[in-house]
Amino acid sequence: MNIITVGLDGKGKVTFQSHAHTDHFAQGRIIYATLPTIHLSHLRNSRFYSPVEFGKRFYIDDYRAKLYPSGHILGSAGIKIWLDEGTLYYTGDIKLERLRTPERTKIPRADFLIIEATFGVPKFRFPKPKIVEKEIIGIVEEKLDKGEIPMFMANPFGKAQELIRILNIHGYEVRVDRIIGKVSRVYRKFGARLKISEDGEVVVSSRRGIQVSGFSRIKLSNHADFWELIEIVERVKPEKVFTVYGHAEQFAKILRGLGYKAEVYKGPMLRLDGEGL
Ligand SMILES: [Zn+2]
Repeated sequence: MNIITVGLDGKGKVTFQSHAHTDHFAQGRIIYATLPTIHLSHLRNSRFYSPVEFGKRFYIDDYRAKLYPSGHILGSAGIKIWLDEGTLYYTGDIKLERLRTPERTKIPRADFLIIEATFGVPKFRFPKPKIVEKEIIGIVEEKLDKGEIPMFMANPFGKAQELIRILNIHGYEVRVDRIIGKVSRVYRKFGARLKISEDGEVVVSSRRGIQVSGFSRIKLSNHADFWELIEIVERVKPEKVFTVYGHAEQFAKILRGLGYKAEVYKGPMLRLDGEGL
């Protein structure tokens, strides 16, 4: 039995944190993360982080490792680790379709894959982000024509900034609440062009308005839908897949049906030789 003791978005002596959403906050003496993830995490967490650049080789608990952008929010990363048994790639939260504010996703080859399965069943098929943009702008125009103030509700860490960028590109100035303003300042520090104004004609709020999420009617999601997840697995070409989060159980079952060795990830201990699959 082979066990990896590096923490992945969890507890470990040394850990990796994939991005700045609180359900992925890591605990450890050293937490490796990208610089944007560290800046965003410091808005809510004061733990000790060690910055790592995308694509640069580093060592995590004596294992060689490299980070790849995962296109979920600014700074979000997957990690590839070179283990004795082969290479392991952990996606964190990931989006394959290109969004406007996160870095462009890169998918490495690996022998073992740990993949998120938030939307890991076939009923989740999201329209292309450009189609959802048109839908959002349509709502804005309709509301403004009626003399109403268009107001959208979005996760303040990432989704709100994506929405602001979309609205800006279509010529709208945007008003936001305090937390979205704070996070947007970090985005701007890393080069995102976000125009926020006190008297913007459209409101993006973390608490109220028309919801924008993979689970709501306006499906601007920063997660891969089921079909993107399948494409990620195909690109990684793993010997074995471990699924995590959301529909992990069902997604593993579907992958087994497609001929992959697949089981639910029960981290932080990882058995790479899983008998009987
Ligand atoms: Zn996330």
